[in-house]
Amino acid sequence: MKTAIEVLDAFENIRRAQRAGIYAPHKPLLILLALARVQHGEPRLVEFTTIDAPLKQLLTEFGPSSAAKSRHYPFWHLATDGHGALWDLSGPREILKRPAGATPSLSELRDQHIKGGFPVDIYEALRHSPGLLQAVATRVLDAYFPATLHADIAATLGLELDGPNEVRDGAPAAADYANANRRRRDPGFRDRVLRAYEYRCCVCGFDLRIGHIPAGLEAAHIQWHHVGGPDIEANGLSLCALHHKLFDLGVFTVDPAEHRVIFSQHAISGGRGMAGELQFHGQPIHAPQHTDLLPAPQFLAWNTQNVFKTPARQVTTAGATPRAAR
Ligand SMILES: [Zn+2]
Repeated sequence: MKTAIEVLDAFENIRRAQRAGIYAPHKPLLILLALARVQHGEPRLVEFTTIDAPLKQLLTEFGPSSAAKSRHYPFWHLATDGHGALWDLSGPREILKRPAGATPSLSELRDQHIKGGFPVDIYEALRHSPGLLQAVATRVLDAYFPATLHADIAATLGLELDGPNEVRDGAPAAADYANANRRRRDPGFRDRVLRAYEYRCCVCGFDLRIGHIPAGLEAAHIQWHHVGGPDIEANGLSLCALHHKLFDLGVFTVDPAEHRVIFSQHAISGGRGMAGELQFHGQPIHAPQHTDLLPAPQFLAWNTQNVFKTPARQVTTAGATPRAAR
């Protein structure tokens, strides 16, 4: 069985494969799904078919558009990361002996009953140390997803992050690792961004205060902080808690030319529809105090490419009513 440090190192190697500015949620979501299975006492190896639907749902919700189409890639490619230290595959030899680049298709993985999971030494270490498992999960969430989404991802997976933190075999608790290697945030970022937008949500204008203190207002990174987005006003938006979460889920973005709020076609709203969220679609954001503080095109481009759920809803000019599609 691996020691806690060896297990953390094995997962750290995957993290290092992530380069600044490049964002792919496939591997981290598969790892988190596999961690949740260990936590729930499930067997070490699982057929791809069994996790196909939940993986698809995770990538659809928390990944950029069309991420779900390549959901089977990490199931195959994780096995070659770190020379097999992190992921085992089992199935017919004629499939497993293929070169790493020859990814089996979705139907091959299903029809050939290919199984995957953590290697025995990692599986046993995680199973025997709930604190270590939570530490790995926390680090993966920190490395790949903004804090606004951590609780939602964990809840979707049924992954317990801060439950009874039982420590066995002398393994350190999750909290001992959680803050390691986290990139430092500039504590002045929030203040500067909120001031730039005069302490209101630049989408809906929300500006509630408790006394003098803004309530429920947050400074969002346009290019996420943990993938290299800088702590500067041009990479920030002042958003209410709801719009911050919707922005990080890729429900809307801001177009770089006219700074209009653009909603995704995947964002569907029922009764509250046009009276609710979609009333902001196509509207310019509340501008910051100075044009120097406007969101910079390169950060908006990163957001549109990596987070926004394309395609965008059509923007019609004021007064024009789009003809109903037939
Ligand atoms: Zn808002």
